[in-house]
Amino acid sequence: MENSLDISKQALWQIMERVSDPEIPVLSVVDLGIIRDILVHPEWIEIVYTPTYSGCPAMDVIRGEIKKALEERGWHTVKLTQKLSPAWTTDWMTEEGKRKLRDFGIAPPVAGGPAPHPVSCPHCGSARTELLSQYGSTACKALYRCMDCLEPFDYFKCH
Ligand SMILES: [Zn+2]
Repeated sequence: MENSLDISKQALWQIMERVSDPEIPVLSVVDLGIIRDILVHPEWIEIVYTPTYSGCPAMDVIRGEIKKALEERGWHTVKLTQKLSPAWTTDWMTEEGKRKLRDFGIAPPVAGGPAPHPVSCPHCGSARTELLSQYGSTACKALYRCMDCLEPFDYFKCH
């Protein structure tokens, strides 16, 4: 038997699935794995999150988006709790999230960081790629180029 708190919790996770990362709009905060827990208290709800890295400039925007999404659905008393330990790792990103990244033309993070593992080209799948710049379109991404199809692409490197 599900009680009403479980039902609320489920609804809240569904709301979180619709909150997207401002830098990579195809990814939700759930895909990213930054929502660690949702607690339903009698008077308020608490969203426990871990930023992708501390000082991530997108986090303020994400906090605002989380509050807005909840308010639009009638949840007005929301507490956002930041949890820095354990630190976020790319392993927390869902497989669905990694697939969405590839479809969007961004190489998903490689466990343990790119070196010495090759970053595969999201366009043709080739492992013959080279790093052009540590910083791509945002601080969370590095710019790579594929030596087979010659397309440049972003690699999501938040760690
Ligand atoms: Zn390629």
